[in-house]
Amino acid sequence: MDKRTGQLHVYFLPMMAPGHMIPLVDMARQFARHDVKATIITTPLNASKFSKTIQRDKELGSDISIRTTEFPCKEFGLPEGCENLASTTSSEMTLKFIKALYLFQRPLEQFLEEDHPDCLIAGTFFPWTVDVAAKLGIPRLVFNGTGLLPLCAYHSLIDHKPHLKVESEAEEFIIPGLPHTLKMSRQQISDHLKDETETPMTEIVKDIMRAEIISYGAIVNSFYELEPNYVKHYREVVGRKVWHVGPVSLCNKDNEDKAQRGQDSSFCEQQCLDWLNTKEPKSVIYICFGSMSIFSSAQLLEIAIALEASDQQFIWVVKQNTTNEEQDEWMPEGFEEKLEGRGLIIKGWAPQVLILDHAAIGGFVTHCGWNSLLEGVTAGVPMVTWPLSAEQFFNEKLLVEILKIGVPVGAQAWSQRTDSRVTINRENIQRAVTELMVGQEAEEMRGRAAALGDSAKMAVEKGGSSDNSLVSLLEELRRGKSSSN
Ligand code: UDP
Repeated sequence: MDKRTGQLHVYFLPMMAPGHMIPLVDMARQFARHDVKATIITTPLNASKFSKTIQRDKELGSDISIRTTEFPCKEFGLPEGCENLASTTSSEMTLKFIKALYLFQRPLEQFLEEDHPDCLIAGTFFPWTVDVAAKLGIPRLVFNGTGLLPLCAYHSLIDHKPHLKVESEAEEFIIPGLPHTLKMSRQQISDHLKDETETPMTEIVKDIMRAEIISYGAIVNSFYELEPNYVKHYREVVGRKVWHVGPVSLCNKDNEDKAQRGQDSSFCEQQCLDWLNTKEPKSVIYICFGSMSIFSSAQLLEIAIALEASDQQFIWVVKQNTTNEEQDEWMPEGFEEKLEGRGLIIKGWAPQVLILDHAAIGGFVTHCGWNSLLEGVTAGVPMVTWPLSAEQFFNEKLLVEILKIGVPVGAQAWSQRTDSRVTINRENIQRAVTELMVGQEAEEMRGRAAALGDSAKMAVEKGGSSDNSLVSLLEELRRGKSSSN
């Protein structure tokens, strides 16, 4: 804390993956708007993805900056420029990447010794930051990137191991002790959770869990009204402090911020807006599967055929492996021309929040990544849920069974990032898309989603649940700081 002004200084160390970095950068900006000095630590390539936004915030008066340190790609046998998890293309590369994160310790310690911040908020994949913070006598908060329902579910599975008592991958079990009766199967949870055998990830996961337990607390991109029972459960049953300060995407107020969020997609900003402006309210479906998933040509073809048959208007974000020679070969002959005016395809990175916030969007087909879930909720739109991996099957339960604003596409099992199979056929995609957009139930879901969208926006306003949570965290940090002086 600056002794003269009493200003708090908070360090943010985001895991370098879009789903972690985007919300943690937004969170740092949110802190800075509450009079906190915010410093974001990352690598040069990652910094270039959000430096323009930070510069704009600075010009508007925020005390926010970025400090960079090189990423040890070569030392870990990773190709030059592989500074983000989204650039890894195999599980071996992913493991090397996660191990390389341990080499950030020395440069971070140097920065901390120079700056003496009052708190360190670090991504879950930097478990060693608890020890670094302890040495300096400052609190470390963990940022997992997900909401509280999936975190509570993880804790329950680790403590009670219900997945070891079933006979097959598909047999369902109840996740014990949660506020709702939620059923899962082994094929919907990650290998390191379900297998007792040691894998290369086992040690890292143990380290992450240890660090979560001994952290000062957790900070989440969520809001109380979205999952009230799980805020309570995390505090009382998991027994940890937690602050919910989201949806952090709401700190992006103008189109420039929205179009540059995560990656500069200003080039298609105007194209999207011009196209959406010609559409009726709530008449377009937005389809995107996050930053990491790459579908096979066969799966893309199924989606294309289903969309064509569904008679719905859509914006579809297609991500393909850039090394894949079959690029675009999946597309049915004349697909784009035939659907011109009815469908817009974005190849690569889309300005997701800009699109979702447009009045013409009436539904979202999502892989249920936590950020996408929350951005869909904030935009007040119902969703088709198509979970692929990570904690996404838990998130689907929240949308479909608890909030009742989701239509499941029927995904039953984890799929690998570069899965070559068709996991969901055209009939199921078409059915889910129609249920999302047409009929009385769709109308009712839309009403519930809109109400939830309003409470998301209220949560971050002055006096809202997330704003109050952030203010109380800052007060606690100030009290802790002054009592240790
Ligand atoms: N995103 C985006 N454009 C894209 C793909 C993703 O802006 O073309 C953003 C999206 O808005 C979200 C994040 O990237 O904030 C993805 O996070 P999420 O948790 O949904 O999924 P993940 O990519 O981690 O699987």
